[in-house]
Amino acid sequence: MALLENKKALVTGSSRGIGRGIVEKFLNEGCEVWGLCSKPSAAKEDLEKLAAEKGVKFHEIYADVGNAENVTEVVKAALAESQGFDVLVNNAGITRDGLSFRMKKEDWDDVIRINLTSAFLISQIVSNDMIRKRKGSIINMSSIVGIHGNGGQVNYAASKGGLIAYSKSLAAEVGGRGVRVNVIAPGFIATDMTNVLKEDIKSAMIERVPLKRAGTPEDIANTALFLASDLSTYITAQVIGVDGGMGA
Ligand code: NAP
Repeated sequence: MALLENKKALVTGSSRGIGRGIVEKFLNEGCEVWGLCSKPSAAKEDLEKLAAEKGVKFHEIYADVGNAENVTEVVKAALAESQGFDVLVNNAGITRDGLSFRMKKEDWDDVIRINLTSAFLISQIVSNDMIRKRKGSIINMSSIVGIHGNGGQVNYAASKGGLIAYSKSLAAEVGGRGVRVNVIAPGFIATDMTNVLKEDIKSAMIERVPLKRAGTPEDIANTALFLASDLSTYITAQVIGVDGGMGA
C-alpha cells in the first residue's frame, strides 16, 4: 500500500524546487495534493499528469502567502474543497540577503511575513480542522541557518529560527489532540534559491558538507514523506536536519 493513500495534503511553494519535489513524492504515494504558489506554474501540467497516472488529483491554487487577507481566503476555500487536510507543509519561502547594518526594513518585513507569519496564519486555519478530527501532520520548512545563524542573512535566519520555536510551541498545544508538528532544516539544496549564488561560493559551501554534494529536492521530500506518513506517528516537536552533515 502507498504510504499516503487516502490522505490529502496542502503544500505551499509547490511550483519549484523543494515544494515541487514534495508534491511529486506525495502524489507518487497516493496523496491528493493542493499545491499553493503565487501564480500559474510551469509545473502544473506535469503534476496533473502524474496525479492522473497515480489515480489521484493535483489542484494548483494561488495566493501571496505574505498577504494575510489573500492567503487566509484562499486557504479557507481549499480547506472547504478538500473537507480537511491530513498533512500541511509550510514550505514557501524567500531570501532578501544583505548585511544587517544596511538592510532595508522592507526586506526584513517581507522575509518575516512570507517565511514565518504565513506559517502561523495557514496552520491556524488548517490545524483547527485537524484538532476537531484528532489527526494531522504539520511540517514546517526551516533551514540550517535557523539553528546556527548566518552572516548576511539576519532576516532569513530570524524567520527560520522563529519557525522552529513556533513549531515546538504549536506542537505542545496540539499534541494532545492528535496533531503532530515537525520541522525540516535543509542545508544546501540545489534549487532556484541557491542557483543565484556565484560558482565559487557554491563550491565553498559543498566543501563544508561532509557528504560532499548539494542536497536535492528529493532528499527533502523523502523526509517530508516520512513525517507526513504513519511511519512517524510518535514523532512531534522535532527538528530534522537534512544537510549532508553540514550542521554537525
Ligand atoms: P525556490 O526554488 O525559490 O521556490 C520557492 C517557492 O516558494 C516557489 O514555489 C514560490 O512560488 C513560493 N513562494 C515564494 N514567495 C511566495 C509568496 N509570497 N506567495 C506564495 N508562494 C511563494 O525555493 P526552495 O529552494 O525550493 O525553498 C523552499 C523552502 O526551503 C523555503 O522555505 C526555503 O527557505 C527553504 N530552504 C531552502 C534551502 C535551499 O538550499 N534551497 C535551504 C534551506 C531551506 P512562485 O514560483 O509562485 O514564486
